[in-house]
Amino acid sequence: MAEQLEKRRLGRTGLEVTVFGFGCIKFPKISAGQAEEALERALDLGVNFIDTARGYGDSEVKIGPVLKRHREEVYIATKTGDRTAKGAMKELETSLKNLQTDYLDLYQAHWVCNNGELDKVLGPGGTLETLQKAKEQGKVRHYGITMHRDRAAIRRAIESDVFETIMLAWNPLDEENVGDLIALAHERDMGVIVMKPLSGGALVSPEGAPRVEGLDPVVAGTLRAIAARPDVSTVIPGMVSVDEVEQNYRAITTADSFDDAARRELFETIAAMKKELRYGQLCLGCGYCLPCTQEIEIPRVFRALYMHQQYPKDQRYMGRELYESLTVPADACVECGECAPRCPAGIDIPARMKEAVAAFGSRKDG
Ligand code: SF4
Ligand code: SF4
Repeated sequence: MAEQLEKRRLGRTGLEVTVFGFGCIKFPKISAGQAEEALERALDLGVNFIDTARGYGDSEVKIGPVLKRHREEVYIATKTGDRTAKGAMKELETSLKNLQTDYLDLYQAHWVCNNGELDKVLGPGGTLETLQKAKEQGKVRHYGITMHRDRAAIRRAIESDVFETIMLAWNPLDEENVGDLIALAHERDMGVIVMKPLSGGALVSPEGAPRVEGLDPVVAGTLRAIAARPDVSTVIPGMVSVDEVEQNYRAITTADSFDDAARRELFETIAAMKKELRYGQLCLGCGYCLPCTQEIEIPRVFRALYMHQQYPKDQRYMGRELYESLTVPADACVECGECAPRCPAGIDIPARMKEAVAAFGSRKDG
C-alpha cells in the first residue's frame, strides 16, 4: 500500500498539488515507452503534478497519451519561451495538441532570466497578454513564470503580483542564491515550484557509495531538505525511469522530519563527496562556520566569490553587487581561526577571505 503523498496549496491558484511532482525535462533522451512507464508509475503512487515545456524537445508529445488517459487525476503545466503574445498563443495551441488536452492547468513564461526578458514578457504585445487571454478563454486555468539567478528580476516579478506561480532552482546548496526569494514569493501567496533539486543530476552520491535503506543518501537528503521547507509547494525532479520515480517517492514519503541533525548529516555527506570529487573548496552555504568573531557573513562572501568566478561572463557583476551589499567586508578577517574547524567542507576560510579581498579589492581605506 502506497504511502499518502502530502498535498500543498499552489499559492493563489488554489490547486492542491503533491509535494513531489514530475519534471519531464529529460524525456527527449528516452523512448516514448519508457516515458509512459515512468509517468504511469508516478500517477499510481499519487503524483498529481507534471511539468514540461515547449522547449523540452518531444517531451509534450510523450506525455500526451498518458495525460489523455488520466486527465482528471493530474495537473499539467507547460511553458513558452516566446516573448510575443502572438508567438506564445501559437505555442499554446501546439502544446495543447501535443498534450492531447483542451486546457492546461498552468502555463508559464519560460526562462525569464533578467530584467530585459521580464520587460518583454510584461510589455505591450508580450507573453503576458497571451497568458491573460488564454485564461479568459479557458485554455489555461492559471499562469506563472520560471526564472533563474537574477535576484533583482526575480524580486520584481514577485512584487509585480502578476503571476500566480514561480518556478526557481533551489537545493540546500542554494547555488542560485534564491533561498530568501522563495520565502518572499510564498509570503505574496505565489505557488512555489522548485526545479533542478538535484542540480541537474550532480547531487548524487559518488559511484559505489553505500546506500541507506536502499536510497542514495545525497538524493534522499536533498529532496527531504526541500520538502521540509513549508514555503515550497512542490519539487519536480527530472526523472526518466520507474526506478527513479520510486526512489524519489520513498525519499519524500519516509522523511518524518528533516531536523538539524539530518541537515548536518546531509551537508557532511555532500562535503565529503565534493572533496572526493576535488571540489573541496566549494562552500555549501550551511552556515556552520558562523558566527565569525568579526561578524563577517562568511557564506555570503563565498557566494559572491563563486558568482564572480564561475557565473557566465555577463552575469559575474552579480557577485560584486552581492559583495558590496555586505555590511562587513572580507578584509575585516583577523585570521583568528575560530571558523575553519567548524566547516564540514574543510575550507581554509581565512585564506579564502584573502582571495575575496584580492578579487573585490580592499574596503579598508575606502
Ligand atoms: S578567521 Fe576570519 S572569518 Fe574566520 S572567524 Fe576569524 S575573523 Fe571570522
Ligand atoms: S564556509 Fe564551510 S561552514 Fe561556512 S557556510 Fe561554507 S561550507 Fe558551511
